Amino acid sequence: MNSTDLIAVVVLGALFWLYRNLDSIKEFINDQLYGDDPSLGVNSNGTRDLAEVLKDNDKNYLVLYGSQTGTAEDYAKKFGKELTARFQLRVMVADLENYDFHSLNELPDNMPVSFVISTYGEGDFPDGSVNFEQYLNELDPDMLDNLRFSIFGLGNTTYEFFNGAARKALDKLQDAGARLIGTLGEGDDGAGTTDEDYLTWKEETIELLQNELDLHEDEDKQFESSFEYTALITIGNSTSLGEPSKQYLPNATLQYNAEGEQSGPFDLSQPYVAPITETKELFQSKDRNCIHTEFDISRSEVTYQTGDHLAIWPSNSDEAVSQFLRVFELDSETIFDLKAKDSTMKLPFLCPTTIGAVVRHYLEITGPISRQTLGLLVSYAPESIKEHIVTLSKDKSLFATEILASKFNLADALLSLNHGETWTGVPWLLLIEMLPKLSPRYYSISSSSLSEPNTIHATSIVENTPNDITGTNITGVTTNLLRNIQVIKNHDDAASLPVHYDLEGPRGLFANGQLPIHVRHSTFRLPKDISAPVIMIGPGTGVAPFRGFVRERCAEVKRDGEECLEKMGKMVLFYGSRDDDDYLYRNEWVEYAATLDAKFEIDVALSRVQEQKVYVQHRLAERQEEVSKLLQNGAYVYVCGDAKRMAKDVQHAIVNILSESKGLTEPEAQEIVKAMKVAGKYQEDIW
Ligand code: FAD
Repeated sequence: MNSTDLIAVVVLGALFWLYRNLDSIKEFINDQLYGDDPSLGVNSNGTRDLAEVLKDNDKNYLVLYGSQTGTAEDYAKKFGKELTARFQLRVMVADLENYDFHSLNELPDNMPVSFVISTYGEGDFPDGSVNFEQYLNELDPDMLDNLRFSIFGLGNTTYEFFNGAARKALDKLQDAGARLIGTLGEGDDGAGTTDEDYLTWKEETIELLQNELDLHEDEDKQFESSFEYTALITIGNSTSLGEPSKQYLPNATLQYNAEGEQSGPFDLSQPYVAPITETKELFQSKDRNCIHTEFDISRSEVTYQTGDHLAIWPSNSDEAVSQFLRVFELDSETIFDLKAKDSTMKLPFLCPTTIGAVVRHYLEITGPISRQTLGLLVSYAPESIKEHIVTLSKDKSLFATEILASKFNLADALLSLNHGETWTGVPWLLLIEMLPKLSPRYYSISSSSLSEPNTIHATSIVENTPNDITGTNITGVTTNLLRNIQVIKNHDDAASLPVHYDLEGPRGLFANGQLPIHVRHSTFRLPKDISAPVIMIGPGTGVAPFRGFVRERCAEVKRDGEECLEKMGKMVLFYGSRDDDDYLYRNEWVEYAATLDAKFEIDVALSRVQEQKVYVQHRLAERQEEVSKLLQNGAYVYVCGDAKRMAKDVQHAIVNILSESKGLTEPEAQEIVKAMKVAGKYQEDIW
């Protein structure tokens, strides 16, 4: 072999090695570029200074969001995307959590800022925005006299402090001299109008921004993605097949502590894949389902307290995935990588990955669709229906009757609008950026951390109703997944399942009944003083945390004996169900009553066994005298379940009891309930 041959062999060898190790090389580059978490964008020099990051990345508009579950983040991104698409603004959309705000009054070119902030709990800021709230609290007058801003809040009128966080931000920013563009937008999830509220606010705000910033619209501008797409040919160890976080990829190693438990923290960025040790159907009736599920946390650092919430990370059903792939003519096997075009952008999911993994595990593809989503697809509508799609996307009431009333998801709607034919040419990157992330669903934990420190119980009613228009069922993502696991594990009647799931998960990660979970801590807690009486009101699955509360007190009695029982204040549970068939945990309450003796009582309202419907609020009213006596003795009131009607009806019943027993006017009694809420003596866990 001469020297030329030798060089050729070496070069070919090196090329072959490069090809074989492409994934590892990409992974190395990813690590260098993105540090610990490739799904997170980072700023060039890691700074938290807003003005500096905007300048470094040549941005001329800022959208800041505070999000608890991802909804505010989705709206912020939509808003930023629209400003870019229509006016070519170079928008930075950023989480309040990741920045400091001292330069907010000195933004480059005096750019305006739009805030999108959700409210959580009792008018609180989302967990990640506590730093922003603190900044607002410390503002002096005139500190923000250069700032122009607009603000959209996401809230729920069924809660006492509707849009509390956005309203507080508005007041504080204005007190510090900042000038509001337009009016405060207030999304109301309670009325189910968040989308329309957003559209109204957005239209008004954009019109004002056009004048303020002299913006001109480029109507022919096509969608431009914030990401660079690269097609790949091999699945490597760093390729996500739908793993819930990067710790579960084959090229990563899960961390364990000295006790051999999987290390956390477990939160919205990383779940624990928990084995399901027990799952059973709780309803007797055939037409509705409620699933009890027990997750084993003994081999992890996951902990919880009685009254906390369990987040379950779902994936989409086979039926929903294949319908979605079909309508857009997508190939689930396609492997690709994404790179953010600038360092302020976050990758929406783990990359590299496949289209199939993204559709199944990372995108919310089934819920109701919004007018704005349809509007974004207008350019790709088949010519024969384009005009109709334009009209639908602009006409609120037509959209409501034709799309929302039919309970279509995106794929259903597009197929129906195009007479069963597919939509070709919709960019995959547009779908990725347009659709919300598939987010975890929350469940009030129905076990007690004292009696079950190693397992977390959830009690979930299965969302499944027939849709006469599509001939299929409208199914909730998570609850049908839980039901699938229950049916398969217990060898029940699989033929009755309306939808099916890949229960093995990516690379078998969820095999034998495992699901990703994390715990969200709540403030829903039994009184520390065991002698305080407790009134619990929880119809349907609203009974979940009260099963936990009662099990907690039983465990305390077992631990501390007779003396504890003597000291214990009375616990009354007002429970409601339709009839005997859906009476949850019927036999268990008998056991609890045996342990707690006269200290525990369950009052059951079976709403459908007599002509006149009887609900928990009626039972409260019937027992007015006793309830009022318990309140006088310092009882804590707990309400859990339906936020839209039940919580209001119950509050009304308590106000009535207070006003009648104390001879107060209704507003005076309402003030007492308000004061009880502030003091933590009237707690709600409602959804
Ligand atoms: P999703 O997929 O989220 O669907 C939600 C609803 O929309 C369903 O009714 C579904 O049928 C409907 N839907 C789907 N597609 C469409 C469409 N295209 N058009 C119109 N409607 C559609 N629930 C419990 O059962 N037990 C609990 O203990 C409990 N605790 C909770 C605690 C908290 C703090 C919160 C916030 C919620 C709690 N929930 C509880 C509710 C729970 O989180 C879920 O919302 C519920 O289980 C539905 O989840 P899913 O994924 O099955 O349905």
